[in-house]
Amino acid sequence: MSDDRPLLEEMLRRLLGPGRPEVGCDECFDQVDRYVELELAGADADRLLPGLRPHLEGCPACREEHESLLALVAAERLAE
Ligand SMILES: [Zn+2]
Repeated sequence: MSDDRPLLEEMLRRLLGPGRPEVGCDECFDQVDRYVELELAGADADRLLPGLRPHLEGCPACREEHESLLALVAAERLAE
């Protein structure tokens, strides 16, 4: 009776993997500032903003954005 599972949902689940909600580029862009702040504060950024790290690992554009932002904010802190 439960055989007609939606195919799209199944494909998405396979693509994303179980329990790994990954954000998209737009969401990543919105949250990366906060992620960097948390990282530099020594907080558990991956727990507070789940999905960002897997996206950064799979998306070179956002990874570059994250790295330059991290360097920028770290430099600002040093200058204070
Ligand atoms: Zn991205």
